[in-house]
Amino acid sequence: MITTVLLVTAALAARAPQDTLDASARRALADVRFLADDRQEGRGVGSDGLARAGAYIREAFARAGLDASFQDFAIPTDAPAVLHTKLGGTATRNVVAILPGTSPALRGQVVVIGAHYDHLGRGGFGAMDPDSTGRVHNGADDNASGTAALLEVARRLAGQRPARTIVFVAVDSIYAMLNMDMVGRLRSARLLALGAATAKEFPALLDSLNTPARFDLRASGDGWGPSDHAVFFAARRPVLHFFTDLHEDYHRSTDDWQRINQKGVAEVARFVADLAWTLANRPGPLTFVDAPRPQATAGGGSGYGAYLGTIPDMTGSGGVEGVRITGVRAGSPAEQAGLAAGDLITAIGVKAITNLYDMTDALRSHQPGDTVVIVVKRGAAEQRMTAVLGRRAS
Ligand SMILES: [Zn+2]
Repeated sequence: MITTVLLVTAALAARAPQDTLDASARRALADVRFLADDRQEGRGVGSDGLARAGAYIREAFARAGLDASFQDFAIPTDAPAVLHTKLGGTATRNVVAILPGTSPALRGQVVVIGAHYDHLGRGGFGAMDPDSTGRVHNGADDNASGTAALLEVARRLAGQRPARTIVFVAVDSIYAMLNMDMVGRLRSARLLALGAATAKEFPALLDSLNTPARFDLRASGDGWGPSDHAVFFAARRPVLHFFTDLHEDYHRSTDDWQRINQKGVAEVARFVADLAWTLANRPGPLTFVDAPRPQATAGGGSGYGAYLGTIPDMTGSGGVEGVRITGVRAGSPAEQAGLAAGDLITAIGVKAITNLYDMTDALRSHQPGDTVVIVVKRGAAEQRMTAVLGRRAS
């Protein structure tokens, strides 16, 4: 879900105070537990639970010493993401906190850090587990984790005297946008920095910051990912989306706080705070690198299409054409067909698969219940498997 964004803009001139990671992890977990508690009803758009979450976030910003406010808006009725929902026109709000810059030359430029705080509510549209409609979907990783990391970044940077500032609405003045969406499942220190190709300076910058941080950092890709940073990329701003990758609980009612890696959230927050600091104080401009917008899919707007249940490797397929998968969902058509972690999908039915967009397209062109042949490369061997596609969501 990308409908409700909260933003804190950071501009800095003195080094952020360093806190112990353990204290940071405890605070992050407390935030996740509040936001992903059943009482917040899954933070569905328009719900009382989402309103309570918003109030909590504003309060947390204020307690950190930042100037925080709500920005009310109604979800546009023609937004592509709401065509199949009844969310168009629903009133909701962003939470915006500002850390003003001090440099006369640079305070007109902004570093934006964002994380959406809404989730699926009680399931239904967008959920991967249609049988669970009515059950609270807590979204601990998606995206209480990013929200908690955002609050930790704010706590680390609040009280500083930054060079660059923040103006949330003035897109022209945005220097870079850092998005944290699903950062709660750090495994084997593997952190994805999607959008690293959107500024020439990003790869080296991320590399140098990672020398002390020591993530298994996968920095790659353009800015067209399915989250809040894409609109900033469309406005030709460098963007980064930090992400600890997909997992079986994604968009399911099992995405609960008990499965959050709290130390991982704190580590990501520390890394993003350091990056925000560096960006807000480096002297020169960033060199924006554009990329073509992915083609609208043939079935766009006509629904989700059929369900396969693969977990794609979001870092890509290692330069070869196809979609590499890191696993399959339990009980899914993919599992029943025999697909496994490490497989490279190269065709679904008659359609060649070179990337994730092809795959979305192929699944949208099929109906639940269709039988399709899936061609995969497993090691050197090519294998053909037969899957009976399922239903994606109710
Ligand atoms: Zn999300």
